[in-house]
Amino acid sequence: MAKHQFQTEIGQLLKLMTHSLYSNKEIFIRELVSNASDAIDKFNYLSLTDEKFKSEEWSGKINIKLDKEDNSLTIADNGIGMNEQDLMDHLGTIAKSGTKAFMENLTGDAKKDSNLIGQFGVGFYSVFMVAEKVDVISKKAGEEQAYMFSTDGTGEYEVKPVTKEEHGTVIYIKLKEDEKEFLDPWRVKEVVKKYSNHIAYPIMLNYEDIEYEGEGDDKTEKKVQKSEQINEATALWTLPKSELKKEDYIEFYKTIAHDSDEPLTYLHNKVEGAQEFTTLFYIPKTAPMDMYRADYTPGVKLYVKRVFITDDDKELLPPYLRFVKGIIDSEDLPLNVSRELLQENKILANIKQNSTKKILQAIKKLKGEDADTFVTQYNRVMKEGIYIDHVNKDLLLDIVKYKSSTQEELVSFEEYISRGDSEKKEIYYIIGEDEKVLRNSPLLEAYKKANIEVLIMDDQEVDSIVTPMIGQYKEWTLKDITSIDAPDSKTEEEKEEIAKEFKSLTDKIKEVLGEEVKEVKTTSRLTDSPSCVLKDPSDPMAGMAAMFAQMGQEMPETPLILEINPEHEMIKKLDNLKDKALFEDLSWILLDSAKLSEGLEPKDKGAFAQRIAKLASKVI
Ligand code: ADP
Repeated sequence: MAKHQFQTEIGQLLKLMTHSLYSNKEIFIRELVSNASDAIDKFNYLSLTDEKFKSEEWSGKINIKLDKEDNSLTIADNGIGMNEQDLMDHLGTIAKSGTKAFMENLTGDAKKDSNLIGQFGVGFYSVFMVAEKVDVISKKAGEEQAYMFSTDGTGEYEVKPVTKEEHGTVIYIKLKEDEKEFLDPWRVKEVVKKYSNHIAYPIMLNYEDIEYEGEGDDKTEKKVQKSEQINEATALWTLPKSELKKEDYIEFYKTIAHDSDEPLTYLHNKVEGAQEFTTLFYIPKTAPMDMYRADYTPGVKLYVKRVFITDDDKELLPPYLRFVKGIIDSEDLPLNVSRELLQENKILANIKQNSTKKILQAIKKLKGEDADTFVTQYNRVMKEGIYIDHVNKDLLLDIVKYKSSTQEELVSFEEYISRGDSEKKEIYYIIGEDEKVLRNSPLLEAYKKANIEVLIMDDQEVDSIVTPMIGQYKEWTLKDITSIDAPDSKTEEEKEEIAKEFKSLTDKIKEVLGEEVKEVKTTSRLTDSPSCVLKDPSDPMAGMAAMFAQMGQEMPETPLILEINPEHEMIKKLDNLKDKALFEDLSWILLDSAKLSEGLEPKDKGAFAQRIAKLASKVI
């Protein structure tokens, strides 16, 4: 007999389970039934495709047994089962990245953490909300030896060989003293109906009942064994939409997504014609915690004619829809389609294309609070979509939203153009790391003055790669305000006139700053600030941020253009300044403070601070 220590994270998780999550204990039934159904799905596939199992007389079934005397509840399935290694890998360690992500997010604050558990769904371990002791007896299909995994949920577990006839898994739960409600057939029926009514296999409830015989004094009690099917046992997605209520969809979601919350939206489609398939997709209200991990768990299961094929295929939907949960059931794919062939399969490619479009259309239709929730959770992955999915670019552009210089709330491109100049057809934006810096950027001054909206894109990592690729939205051209002339009322001649007037000053500043700037020139884009810095649009590196990011490299720094505001007091005085040392200091301050306003760093921060101190002591 081998004793094992649970992985540290599981130890923590178990503690949390038993101490923080009181409100919704019944979900342990949902979680275990869902695992049982998955295991039956897997064996079902083998029984139809693997010669070894084809001859077996078998139909998938889940049995729940209540034993009042023993104070136990048992959930048994005749699915694929687990061997010794599986038991240790799947129940003794946290294999899934999602669970790890979950643990990393724990705060130690019981209330917050139990919310997290709700969002996350922890499968098997939820049993410890009600269990004093759990035995998992399992035999893997095709193997001889069965094993028992036992634990009381306090940090250690044991695995030992046992005998068991049929393949599958029996989960024996010794209930805690105060969890007797789960021995009541009515209570268990209610929970199964609520969460697992549309699990595709029959769920049988077995319990002892008392029947009375005779009348009056002759009345005698007789114990009888009852066994009844307590779910409908039809895969929900196979039912016609007209027969399904919103609640049915929501409960089914909770079962397949292990989520206690309702989904944001769902879509159920049956496609008939040259190709036939059914899809049922859900968008969770909260993004999965592993969404930004390379080893995320895909959320869509593939079925062929109701037979489960895989839940581990990341290609069923495009990667930017990796938060979608649901089911694809094809009538046309061969049952024994191999994993490698799945990738190149034309039928599947068609389903993927159709599904993507439908999902994006459903997202586009979200309104009000739902639309807001979607944006807060998924805006970033939608931007990823714009970058990789050219076919659906227009739909995606209708979904993404951005901060705006003139609006409180996030705005869509559609909203932007409804307010924009419909003759010029230009969409202005500025990209940077920090919203506050962007909003205060001197580059925005001219737009503010002219009352022109500018999109504030503060997800620099993503926006700097994706936005330049957008190019156009409905004939409107996207313009980065850091590389174009700002709107103003001056004519070209007037501007040239001013440039000439200040030429000796701009030349002198350029001489001081040397290679640090590409060019120094006058501008009419500023009102309050004396200077600003811009990227050089003619720089061959300018449009290459995406390429550098793809190579995982930092974009090399290129010299900026320094623009000065000839109407600013400081510039006017600088033009007449005789003190050479002071002129040099002020030239550097013009550059460095302009950089700071754009969230950039002065090249020599120490020198910048010293110059400021020097100046300050002059004026005091
Ligand atoms: P999840 O179901 O989300 O993967 P669980 O913690 O509930 O997470 O289960 C972990 C793993 O243990 C499952 O992925 C599966 O491989 C295995 N497992 C759990 N219950 C069963 C069962 N009844 N039959 C076979 N395998 C099971």
